Amino acid sequence: MNDTTAGTAVADGVYRCGSDRVNWYLIDADDGLVVVDTGFPSHWNQLLELLESLEYDVTDVDACLLTHAHPDHAGFADRLRTEADVPVWLHEADAEHARGEGDLAVAQAVARLWRPELFRYFLEFARSGGFSVPPLTTFRSIDGRETLDVPGSPRVIHVPGHTEGHVAFYFPDHEVLVCGDEIVTVDFVAGRGHRPQLLAAWFNADHEQADDSLARLEPIGEVLLLPGHGDPWRGRTETAVDLARRRE
Ligand SMILES: [Zn+2]
Repeated sequence: MNDTTAGTAVADGVYRCGSDRVNWYLIDADDGLVVVDTGFPSHWNQLLELLESLEYDVTDVDACLLTHAHPDHAGFADRLRTEADVPVWLHEADAEHARGEGDLAVAQAVARLWRPELFRYFLEFARSGGFSVPPLTTFRSIDGRETLDVPGSPRVIHVPGHTEGHVAFYFPDHEVLVCGDEIVTVDFVAGRGHRPQLLAAWFNADHEQADDSLARLEPIGEVLLLPGHGDPWRGRTETAVDLARRRE
């Protein structure tokens, strides 16, 4: 998959989009369309192509939800808001990142660029506009645990650690859990294998807190886990959490 490929259906009405290294999702629910995370700015055309292939227009999108406001998740969020009048939902605690003012662990990443996988990601980050994501200053605030009044009625699970305002979204009708960077299924630092895991500690603002937050995902049950990075994974959330905890 690359920037020019429209999304891949991973479940009925659920499309995985982005690139080999970065995921975002379109949920075509019975009651409307939701974009969850928005990749890099360069992924905008992919959204338009996917919508066209499904015979929708960008103005048909009802809501945009962000798991957190890092540049590889918030890429075209503000464009969607300004050009198509789509409300963007984000946890208030990520407002600083949304403005482009948060710490991004860039120095820690640069120190590890000798790792080939990370180097490739860094190149993609730069080429895809990761360093020039327009600030998002207007959004609807998600606070803690609630069911959002948007298509698919996703339940919000606050899982701080990767960022303070990081949330996961559980869509009960689709049985999908979009978990952002709380659990990923690829190790793009060391390339060590593809299964549920936490990101490397230095990627997380508070790694211990990210580890603690796993417990909030444990009781959800059988899901298709859709991470910010890596392939979808199907199984019980307690198994995913168990795998993530063991991979330290
Ligand atoms: Zn992130």
